[in-house]
Amino acid sequence: MGGSECLFCDILNNKKSAQRILETDDFIVIENKYPKAPIHLLVVDKTHREKSDTMAGAYQNESYWDKLFQAVHEAVVKLNLDKMGYKVVINESKYYHYGHEHVHVVGGGLGEVDSGEIRL
Ligand SMILES: [Zn+2]
Ligand SMILES: [Zn+2]
Repeated sequence: MGGSECLFCDILNNKKSAQRILETDDFIVIENKYPKAPIHLLVVDKTHREKSDTMAGAYQNESYWDKLFQAVHEAVVKLNLDKMGYKVVINESKYYHYGHEHVHVVGGGLGEVDSGEIRL
């Protein structure tokens, strides 16, 4: 999947709209259009990198996950999720809907977030 077939690439190229929360050198943080919790963010790689590659460590020399979690942290602090409680969810293999690497940050409603069975 790449180019116009990828929702996240379309968002990055402004072909599709998204509410942007913040941006770092390598990631953007946007609101999930279909939230599963009161606050549901997506931390999206600005480059189309496939999850199978990132999880396999293809970018470990670039401190890939350090940078990703720095973006998570910035979003958490910006929205005061550190005071409310939040979850970081990474869907892999059969759980993921888009190969373009991204993680979910959900919070603001423990009942829903803790239900465990929801597919993010
Ligand atoms: Zn993409
Ligand atoms: Zn996802």
